Amino acid sequence: MLNDPRSHGLWEMTAPPAPDTVAFSGKADADVVIVGGGYTGFSAALHLAERGTRVVLLEGAEIGYGGSGRNVGLVNAGMWVMPDELPGVLGDVYGSRLLDVLGNAPRLVFDLVEKHGIDCEINPAGTLHCAVGQSGLDELKQRAEQWSRRGAPVRLLDAAETATKVGTDAYAGALLDMRAGTIQPLAYARGLARAAIAAGAQVFTGSPVTGAERNGARWTVKTARGDVTADWVIVATNAYTVSPWNVVRTELVHLPYFNFATVPLSAEMQARILPERQGAWDTKEVLSSFRFDKRGRLVFGSVGALRGTGLGIHKAWARRSLRKLFPGIGDVAFEAEWYGKIGMTADNLPRFHRLADNVVGFSGYNGRGIAPGTVFGRTLAELVSGRIAEADLPLPVTDPQAQSFRSAREGYYELGAQVAHFAGARF
Ligand SMILES: Cc1cc2nc3c(=O)[nH]c(=O)nc-3n(C[C@H](O)[C@H](O)[C@H](O)COP(=O)(O)OP(=O)(O)OC[C@H]3O[C@@H](n4cnc5c(N)ncnc54)[C@H](O)[C@@H]3O)c2cc1C
Repeated sequence: MLNDPRSHGLWEMTAPPAPDTVAFSGKADADVVIVGGGYTGFSAALHLAERGTRVVLLEGAEIGYGGSGRNVGLVNAGMWVMPDELPGVLGDVYGSRLLDVLGNAPRLVFDLVEKHGIDCEINPAGTLHCAVGQSGLDELKQRAEQWSRRGAPVRLLDAAETATKVGTDAYAGALLDMRAGTIQPLAYARGLARAAIAAGAQVFTGSPVTGAERNGARWTVKTARGDVTADWVIVATNAYTVSPWNVVRTELVHLPYFNFATVPLSAEMQARILPERQGAWDTKEVLSSFRFDKRGRLVFGSVGALRGTGLGIHKAWARRSLRKLFPGIGDVAFEAEWYGKIGMTADNLPRFHRLADNVVGFSGYNGRGIAPGTVFGRTLAELVSGRIAEADLPLPVTDPQAQSFRSAREGYYELGAQVAHFAGARF
């Protein structure tokens, strides 16, 4: 995207085309202006437009330019934080609301895909969180017990069943989560955009918002070639925020994450690795993830940025790791490589912000934004159209808190990933 093959890689090569859009110019009046064209923005736009609300969405680059077009495509339920810990962090009311909302969020993704006929390689076959060693298994046992107690369709697999489902004996077990699945992430973002436009939303790309001004009870947001005036502003810029709501960005530490996509594997390897086509990742701190696309390419990723010395180090690591995990795979070629920035909050939980009167947004999905972005977009639509009150949200209102030593920590993660993946490191 924007002439960078390492921005969206395989997803850009294989996604259906984006709907036709142009840059905004002139003046417009709307009920709601949405800034940012990822899952959060388009889900909000779709749910608002479906109820007849006049919506203008302004995207600074292209549809799915941010995390929504670059991710692994694991449609996860829940967050990193253990279910039992959430009430302690957020209080009982918000803790149980958030668990409920996020536990059911993949269902909304699957339902929207079906309802709008979105062509995005959807596969609700579940996900496998794979245990590395005894400590990984202990963590997954706790997750399994805590989610099962809440009635979630999860199951802890032993090492033998994991080996059959993953195609390697590298793991001590795995947590199978049948609420979850995989999608082609950019295709989903483009499909949501198409559905929002069909419902009546006006979508503009190449239109970065550069400022916002109070205009009586309303807001005027500015782009290089024109202004939109609206009653509400939804800020859906998240980890890819460029001004004017830069506070959203300063609250997040960017964690780089890359993916390599192999050429389509042989029929034998496609039958051996992830035969039921779950999406998978492991319990390591510098984690690895892998999943197939519909043509049988294996998408293999981990923490790191594919630039400078990182490119060679991470590519060599990916080759070594694939051979160690799946010895029959041989010296497989890569067809695409790309990376992006995950926005991490200090406590690994998302945020709801009221940035000013009638200026609201969710952000900080910590690498788990497909289902949350979709469900929080719908929540924002309900909030600004008055169907729910702020007190009913799944998160409390908080002010953005800039994280200290952000740049240093971002540099540390990028370099630390190179150290972790340097020669000798295992999968
Ligand atoms: C490499 C990677 C792997 C990931 N893997 C997964 C995964 O497997 N599963 C999962 O659930 N999540 C994953 N995530 C996280 C997920 O992709 C994000 O949480 C999600 O896409 C966020 O969606 P969003 O709509 O809130 O923001 P984004 O998709 O980032 O969209 C924000 C948009 O705002 C635009 N913008 C910014 N500033 C302005 C401005 N001033 N004016 C106009 N537009 C502006 C940007 O151009 C961008 O398009 C991953 C993320 C990355 C980067």
